[in-house]
Amino acid sequence: MKLIAEPKIYLVTRPAVDWEQVATFLADEGLPAVPDSIRAGKDESAAVVEVSARMCYMSFGRGRKDIADFVNNLLKSKDGSVFEHVNYGFVVTGVSRSLTHELVRHRAGFAYSQRSQRYVDEAASAFVLPPALVDSIGDTGEARRILAEALETASASYAELVEALDKALPPDKFTSNTDRRKAIRQAARAVLPNATETKIFITANVRAWRHFIEMRGAPFADWEIRRLALIVLDILQKEAPLLFGDFTVSQLPDGTKTATPTYSKV
Ligand SMILES: Cc1cc2nc3c(=O)[nH]c(=O)nc-3n(C[C@H](O)[C@H](O)[C@H](O)COP(=O)(O)OP(=O)(O)OC[C@H]3O[C@@H](n4cnc5c(N)ncnc54)[C@H](O)[C@@H]3O)c2cc1C
Repeated sequence: MKLIAEPKIYLVTRPAVDWEQVATFLADEGLPAVPDSIRAGKDESAAVVEVSARMCYMSFGRGRKDIADFVNNLLKSKDGSVFEHVNYGFVVTGVSRSLTHELVRHRAGFAYSQRSQRYVDEAASAFVLPPALVDSIGDTGEARRILAEALETASASYAELVEALDKALPPDKFTSNTDRRKAIRQAARAVLPNATETKIFITANVRAWRHFIEMRGAPFADWEIRRLALIVLDILQKEAPLLFGDFTVSQLPDGTKTATPTYSKV
């Protein structure tokens, strides 16, 4: 039985700007060529926000000259919709089904594609250790033993259920083998625990990521999803410092970390 202590997170999609097209648009409109205030090529994420925000008032080449000042003003005044133009996509593995059940409650601006427990055989699936049993602040040996025993039992019951249903469900009642396999697996998964590992592709825009990190980076959020929120924040702060730089990370007495934004729910 495979136990997973930490997730793996891959940033697989990020925004890109076609500066030639931006320049053509500005020329067609008789506006100044890509204004200095838009830092082309340096931080494309912030540039997308600035280009879209300036569209509202056609203020290209006018007003605030510093892009950090420009973005902070948008965050401060909660002009959040322009942050929806910037999307980041992550592939996440080594997280539990309980984490993704909480994750997919985040609706606005999010897209998900998750490994199916109906199509994919879970016989050899791994399980995710709750962080309290990993980065332990106490002796969790006994808790780990109890968990491992429960997971072994669940895994064995899943395999037995698959076998029993394979014998019980007549092939001639299904239009295809795939449908029959799905019928078996969707029933057998009833005994899989919350700790079952899953893999998920998550895409969200910056407004949505900021809200997710604020909600799930808060001290009262579950430790596993909080850890994910903190890792995502760390990646996005490097990727788009102007859009996520206002979050501060602190450590709680229990050793876990939290994230708090200066600009809440933009
Ligand atoms: C610590 C913690 C504990 C939680 N405990 C529970 C629990 O016990 N039970 C439970 O069911 N959930 C629980 N949740 C989930 C929580 O209720 C939200 O479903 C989840 O955090 C997603 O938040 P959201 O709806 O703001 O996000 P999103 O769905 O991403 O929405 C973002 C924002 O868009 C707006 N919005 C989105 N959809 C609508 C809509 N249909 N109508 C109007 N405005 C909309 C709202 O302003 C919303 O805040 C918990 C969350 C946290 C962080």
